[in-house]
Order: sequence, then C-alpha cells, then structure tokens
Amino acid sequence: MTYIIAVANQKGGVGKTTTSINLAASLAATKRRVLLVDLDAQGNATMGVGVDKSAVKLTARDVLLEKAKPADVILHLPEIGISLMPANGDMTEAEIKLRDVAVGDFALKAALAEVADQFDYILLDCPPALSKLTVNALVAADGVLIPMQCEYYALEGLTALMDTIGKIKRVINPKLEVEGLLRTMFDPRNNLANDVSAQLLEHFKEKVYRTIIPRNVRLAEAPSHGLSVMAYDAQSSGAKAYLALAGEVLRRHDGGQLRLSA
Ligand code: ADP
Ligand code: MG
Repeated sequence: MTYIIAVANQKGGVGKTTTSINLAASLAATKRRVLLVDLDAQGNATMGVGVDKSAVKLTARDVLLEKAKPADVILHLPEIGISLMPANGDMTEAEIKLRDVAVGDFALKAALAEVADQFDYILLDCPPALSKLTVNALVAADGVLIPMQCEYYALEGLTALMDTIGKIKRVINPKLEVEGLLRTMFDPRNNLANDVSAQLLEHFKEKVYRTIIPRNVRLAEAPSHGLSVMAYDAQSSGAKAYLALAGEVLRRHDGGQLRLSA
C-alpha cells in the first residue's frame, strides 16, 4: 500500500522542503521505495537533491497539464536512494492553467495513480500558499505533515490550513488525515519556543510528533551540496532527528519493521 504525505504549511521558511527531502531520504534508508514530488515553482526540493532545475526538460508541470507521463518525468537518484518528480519556474503555469480546468483539483491524484504501485511512500513538497497546487496535494494525499516553527505567529496560519484540510476532507477526500505537526528549527534555549511547543501539545496532543527537529546548521548546508543531511553528515543532530521522525512515521503506518532486504 502506498502512503501519500503532503508536507504543507502556507507559511514560507518553516522547513517544508528540508523535511520533504530528509524524511524521504530517511524512509529510503529503511528500504522503503520513496518518490519525492516537488510542487513548488522555486524548485528548492529539486535543487536540494542535486538536480539542476534549469536543466530538467520535463517537470511536474508537464504531468499536471497532461503533457507528459509521470514515468517519463520521474528521475532516479541512487546517491540519495529516492526518485524525484522535479519542478522549476514552469510550475506557475500549471498553477494558473489548473484553475480553468473543471477537474483541476484532481490532476496530481490522477497522475500519481499511474505510478503509485512503484512506491511505498510519496512525499509532496508543497508551495508556501494555499494555492491550486497545494489543493492538488491535499486531494491526492492520505495524510498531511505540517512543519512549524515554534514562534509567536505559528498558530495563526494553522487555523486557515486546518480549515482547508477539513473542507477538502468533507467534500473531496474523506480519507485525508492530519498525519502530524512537526516542530522544526527548534531551539530549546528559547523560552517562547518552549511555550508555543507546550501549547501545541496541549491542543493537538498525539497529533504532534514526539520527534523535534533542532536548529542545525548541517540541515541548512546539505542542500547546497545536493545531498540529504544523512549523506552530508550522518552524525549531525539534524540527521538523527529526521531518522527518528521516519521511525515515527513507519510505526504509524507499517508497523515500523526495518526491511533488511529491498
Ligand atoms: P520551506 O520549504 O517551508 O520554505 P525550508 O525547508 O526551505 O522551508 O527552510 C527554510 C530555510 O531554513 C532554508 O534555508 C533551510 O535550509 C533552513 N532550515 C530548515 N530547517 C532547518 C533546521 N532544522 N535547522 C537549520 N536550518 C534549517
Ligand atoms: Mg520549500
């Protein structure tokens, strides 16, 4: 069974792309077959795994606008152990054109159905907006992973995101669940961060991942080398945290067994 996770938060800079790349790589390290789908016109996930976004001929845009088959767009990245559906600035066109298509919310779901049996996990790195592309991700997904920075305004945007998730669940995608809230870039010396973290636990209880992603410079450096943090510095606190997060995700979805043979 393929499990599709949308990594979403309409705020920029909260760690969506960092989480998408490193959770994908961590799941791959436990022998799961993983597809990372870059849905952001900025192409940060694409560049972050070492693919030159300006050099790719086919992207998620071509898949969403039915100009190409997913299998022809997906790249296989043996050094990171994952597959990638890349994106670049062309995604802006998909965002606009999908607004004019009657079934424009279903384009990603339809495309992923063609390749789903080749993957155990599909991670969707969403753009920083509650846009048509994010709606496509929420329609295609089984679960939503919401990265958040524990700061003063963090909870504000959460209401709008939860409303959108609720609406899509009621109207289009009844199986959609909030998979979890992930505390990112966490600095335990920061009192406000601790307060916001406590509030999150109080309101969302078991929906908050026990794993906390610390602020760690290795996580910020790795993408400039086109590497996951595990490949860049396996001993870093960032690498350990994302492996722990993968463990939590696996425990929730497939009993957490480590597969020793592919
Ligand atoms: P988003 O995709 O939500 O916009 P990113 O994952 O691109 O957010 O993260 C924003 C910036 O913060 C990037 O420069 C990234 O390298 C950095 N960053 C993300 N997570 C961490 C972390 N835990 N520690 C340090 N830097 C981080
Ligand atoms: Mg991003």
